[in-house]
Amino acid sequence: MLKDRLQEVEEKISAACARSGRSRDEVTLIAVSKTKPVETLREAYDLGIRVYGENKVQELTQKYDLLPKDIHWHMIGHLQTNKVKYIIDKVDLIHSVDSFKLAQAIEKEAAKHDLVKDILVEVNVAREESKFGLKMEEVIPFLGQLSGFSHIKVRGLMTIAPFVENAEENRSIFADLHKLSVDIRDKNIDNVNVSILSMGMTNDYEVAVEEGATMVRVGTGIFGARNYAV
Ligand SMILES: *Cc1c(COP(=O)(O)O)cnc(C)c1O
Repeated sequence: MLKDRLQEVEEKISAACARSGRSRDEVTLIAVSKTKPVETLREAYDLGIRVYGENKVQELTQKYDLLPKDIHWHMIGHLQTNKVKYIIDKVDLIHSVDSFKLAQAIEKEAAKHDLVKDILVEVNVAREESKFGLKMEEVIPFLGQLSGFSHIKVRGLMTIAPFVENAEENRSIFADLHKLSVDIRDKNIDNVNVSILSMGMTNDYEVAVEEGATMVRVGTGIFGARNYAV
């Protein structure tokens, strides 16, 4: 049941916060609702969930149109520059900025709507070939390139850790992203703030919280297994 799974995730986040001396309100739970039907999101909405993560533009905009307007939508998947225009005024945060070209497209579309869009820079901490994101050493120079944009506000970093059997194997990945955020803070780059660390998914969000995550992206843990065949 959705309600029970949600409660379990909530309890685990609270416990991880307590273990690491953090306050529960430092961590935002993003319910990753990709592939799940609108009825399921409505059920989660009725249980109080207001923050949803989606990874496909079309799916996000369809759900946006059908669901209440006090929902906060987060774009967590790879984003093509030509699709930015469809979500720019619908999402609170884009987690997956990984190229200057994409940042330029967000700047341009945000300017058209006269808004400043919050973004995270996606970092491929584990250097997996199959994953998007900048390498650790590319992040600070990249942030320098973004500092002139007036319709983008960098708010932090995001990473997708590898799939591992034991979440402990990802602890150093999360610690590395946290350390990078501290290094960035010390550099005081214009227009760059790194208060958000989006890291941790169903398999490893507790470890991520212990290592400083301020947003965890949990799909399966809340909604159950996804069926990509439908
Ligand atoms: C699907 C997805 C998640 C959630 O994955 P689960 O393992 O189901 O919790 C988190 N982040 C991103 C970027 C995703 O694409």
